[in-house]
Amino acid sequence: MTIGKLIDGKGFAAGLRVQLTDHIIDFVAKTGRKPGLAVVLVGEDPASAVYVRSKGKMTVEVGMESFEFRRPASISQDELLELIEELNGDPRVDGILVQLPLPKHLDEQAVIAAIDPAKDVDGFHVINSGRLAVGLPALVPCTPLGCLMLLKDELGDLSGLEAVVVGRSNIVGKPMAQLLLGESCTVTIAHSRTRDLASVVHRADIVVAAVGRPEMIKGEWIKPGAVVIDVGINRVAAEEEGKTKIVGDVATAEAISHVRAITPVPGGVGPMTIAVLLRNTLVAACVRAGLKAPE
Ligand code: NDP
Repeated sequence: MTIGKLIDGKGFAAGLRVQLTDHIIDFVAKTGRKPGLAVVLVGEDPASAVYVRSKGKMTVEVGMESFEFRRPASISQDELLELIEELNGDPRVDGILVQLPLPKHLDEQAVIAAIDPAKDVDGFHVINSGRLAVGLPALVPCTPLGCLMLLKDELGDLSGLEAVVVGRSNIVGKPMAQLLLGESCTVTIAHSRTRDLASVVHRADIVVAAVGRPEMIKGEWIKPGAVVIDVGINRVAAEEEGKTKIVGDVATAEAISHVRAITPVPGGVGPMTIAVLLRNTLVAACVRAGLKAPE
């Protein structure tokens, strides 16, 4: 039995941050200021607070300025839009990220639409998704861009490969499919209404799983030699009573003997997301400063 490789997303992300640090030194030398990332956190969701803390820490570690705006869950839509307007006009801020999900009374789409597309480092604004769709330079959502980097590192040229993306969300599935199409893959997007998901997945040279269902994609579904990117983050009960653990959307222990390579969860896609967010912030800063953006 052959065993596939585990893709080291954590190591890749660390390497990406080192490259960014060099670019940022150059940016500071040329502009006399640091690129700045503003993160807006509304409410007290503990998971969101953890993400925001680690984003802030890594932003500073690579040499950028981190601005954090914490607002109570009771903030009104108008107050939040006012804050975004301020950040749009703030010359120290190159990237704006509003941590999602927002409390129910706030209109997420309206909040995303209010962000200046040139500072939309999450790549969720329709201007950026439209630019991605027509093949223009865009700020691309961090998680799928991170997945693409890992795929290209593993496979090189993706042209002509059969890719199946499971999940069609605006933040992962759809932009992932657009990126793979941009690499000339033959792309299928599967979702909850897809019939016979197992045989759809079995066609793929590349599988990207972005579903949010623990270990739903079984090892035997995977074509031998495929590369699998597992985006899912699912908290489940651990073997030890009272403990929990994180698993992906793919049954990795089964899949490992079918794949050429697979991202582990944790330690695969997750660390890439923040590294790409920092990259997007530097790209936005370079574009605003009229400098050449990093690849
Ligand atoms: P969403 O819930 O927005 O989308 C899930 C998608 O999966 C939907 O398109 C849904 O189909 C599809 N789906 C649900 N059930 C099935 C099924 N039984 N068969 C096939 N498709 C199904 O999730 P996200 O895209 O936001 O996130 C997906 C996963 O990725 C989550 O676990 C999330 O935590 C994780 N994630 C990880 C990140 C990271 O940094 N590693 C970043 C972002 C997300 P339909 O549209 O028909 O409902």
